[in-house]
Amino acid sequence: MVDLFPSDRQGALQRLDEFVQAEAIAYARTRNFVEVGHANVSRLSAALRHRLISEEEVVTAVLAVHRFSAVEKFVQEVVWRTYWKGWLEQHPGVWEDYVRQSAVAMTVPPSGGAMSRFTEELRTTGYMHNHARMWWAAWWCHQQGLPWAAGARFFFDHLLDADAASNTLGWRWVAGLQTPGKAYLARRDNLAKYWEDHGSLEDIDDHVRARIPAETADRSRTSLSEYPEAPPELEGKVALVGHADDLSIETTPLGAVRPSSVALIDQPGVTDSAVKCAWRSRAMDDASARWTSHYGKVVSRLPCWDALASWLSESGCDALVLMAPFVGPDADAWRPVRQTLQDAGIRVVECRRAWDQRLFPAARAGFFPFWHKAKPILSKRQQ
Ligand SMILES: Cc1cc2nc3c(=O)[nH]c(=O)nc-3n(C[C@H](O)[C@H](O)[C@H](O)COP(=O)(O)OP(=O)(O)OC[C@H]3O[C@@H](n4cnc5c(N)ncnc54)[C@H](O)[C@@H]3O)c2cc1C
Repeated sequence: MVDLFPSDRQGALQRLDEFVQAEAIAYARTRNFVEVGHANVSRLSAALRHRLISEEEVVTAVLAVHRFSAVEKFVQEVVWRTYWKGWLEQHPGVWEDYVRQSAVAMTVPPSGGAMSRFTEELRTTGYMHNHARMWWAAWWCHQQGLPWAAGARFFFDHLLDADAASNTLGWRWVAGLQTPGKAYLARRDNLAKYWEDHGSLEDIDDHVRARIPAETADRSRTSLSEYPEAPPELEGKVALVGHADDLSIETTPLGAVRPSSVALIDQPGVTDSAVKCAWRSRAMDDASARWTSHYGKVVSRLPCWDALASWLSESGCDALVLMAPFVGPDADAWRPVRQTLQDAGIRVVECRRAWDQRLFPAARAGFFPFWHKAKPILSKRQQ
């Protein structure tokens, strides 16, 4: 069966190839249309979110075949992910605010009406088209007057691509918090134009005004943490640990590490949907199989970050190498564990991909200043 939202690296590379060959050129013109089957978009977001494939691989593949100007819109969309991630790394108070608010928020959406078709699609497939996410979030915040963080939590529990940065900041943007004073509103003529299979739109209130909530987040900017791209030579027995933020570490400088032991941490959210959990387990199985073959070690599957200390002591390792998790659930769970390991004298080395090191510093303010800096770097990749 063809996986509409690839859950393994091979499937993601195949979908990328198909998209590059057949769909990339039309993307700028067709991407906003919400169609059954979503053939006009890449459907690679879940694979990208977990780095079964990387943004760099996607951009490199598309630029290997097409001129930059012909696929600029697609490249720009791909780096929206990088931008949001880089921005959240520098504004962790915004994630903390979402965590606080969503812990107490109601997560069941109202049933009936035009948006319930998308609710159903999200529940059964774990996917919603970008334009539908915008309409749905606008309906939730401005028409229903519900708390944005509760809607964001509902998305987070169901989306295969649930991502701390893209989801939190996408919701804040619709709600009118991200770009202060500017909110997104859903309008009937826009839905009718871009939604191929729309039914009645009568319940969409065309006159609704933005209900922008009070800002409760600490938006102050913190410096980016410094990480090496590759680990240094390490003495003694080295453990390598992977996690849901990067499931293709063997394609990075971590691929050259010769570890004594390898583990994969799989700590899903407690309220994650069954559809999301099933996709994630397939992706984890795929990573585990690839790493077993690449590193020549059986990969231990750990159910949570808290299991790391005892696994390390059983494996007798003196050092631990991993990709630094991004601001989000894995980083929150990792932080206290890192402290425990360091207190126990384990050397911890966290790395970050060159792509992130290069582009995150530019994600300090709005997207367009970021794009102004990113575009020359990306367009040069073609030469
Ligand atoms: C309210 C809201 C919540 C969202 N939550 C998430 C989320 O949790 N996880 C997530 O990955 N994306 C999220 N997005 C962004 C976007 O909707 C999805 O990335 C996109 O729909 C995925 O489908 P695709 O891969 O077919 O996209 P394509 O149109 O094929 O785009 C190619 C790639 O570009 C990136 N991209 C495209 N649009 C955006 C965008 N607006 N923001 C960030 N990256 C983008 C994605 O990596 C995507 O795979 C959200 C958007 C909104 C408005």
